[in-house]
Amino acid sequence: MNTEQKQLIISFHDLHPGSWEACKGFIERCQEFGANKMSLLVIPQYHGAPPFTENPEFVSWLQSLSSDDFDLCLHGYYHHAERVRGGWFQQMKGNVYTQGEGEFYQLSSEQAQEKLEAGMRLFHPQDLTVHGFTAPAWLCSEEAKQTIRDTGFLYNTLWDGVELTSSNIFIKAPTLVYSSRSAWRRIVSKLWINFFHAYNRNAHVLRFAVHPIDFSYPDIEAHLYSVLEKALSNRTCATYRDLIPLDQQTPVTLAAS
Ligand SMILES: [Zn+2]
Repeated sequence: MNTEQKQLIISFHDLHPGSWEACKGFIERCQEFGANKMSLLVIPQYHGAPPFTENPEFVSWLQSLSSDDFDLCLHGYYHHAERVRGGWFQQMKGNVYTQGEGEFYQLSSEQAQEKLEAGMRLFHPQDLTVHGFTAPAWLCSEEAKQTIRDTGFLYNTLWDGVELTSSNIFIKAPTLVYSSRSAWRRIVSKLWINFFHAYNRNAHVLRFAVHPIDFSYPDIEAHLYSVLEKALSNRTCATYRDLIPLDQQTPVTLAAS
């Protein structure tokens, strides 16, 4: 790919059988805009629901996606945190900011390893290749970050950028993301995204993160596509995996180890 050109990484967060329809609709609309590449952030067992592998149609659909255009990224395990430990700051971050979704926020290395392995044990037998990881709400303890590096994930996406684990390079990449869960957040989100998009117009890599809940609100959905169209006018679409040189794109083999 042309690395000189400014890039847009579109990611669909929180993909699981329950959000599959929203994801398919989004992919179709993106393709109408000429956006053919996307990273899909898959949750192995969303909020304790059966593992996604128990839905064979969903698995076949994932398998049918072109691996050049789609990059599957492991996104937590349950996407739900245990009780948040610590003082007001940790409580704010873990409970108010994320609504208790920060599953990797306070994990030890052992706990992180257990969840990463459990996730990969679902992907691996289905021949679904995974190259990277994104923690729910981008909250990740230092121990978990190290475990992600040690267990063969080639990238870990964080709030402000992407860590390429093998080369130890951090790529600064601002993210446009809506907060759709209340009316005031939706109003502020649209204003914020307009501002933040303009502010980061020269960023080499810009990320656009959508969540299934965004499609429950027509005003957010309309805004989202207008921002996308604008971003695509001067950026090339890429996936997270595209940030890694082709000859180094080795899928995670955790389950086989
Ligand atoms: Zn998420």
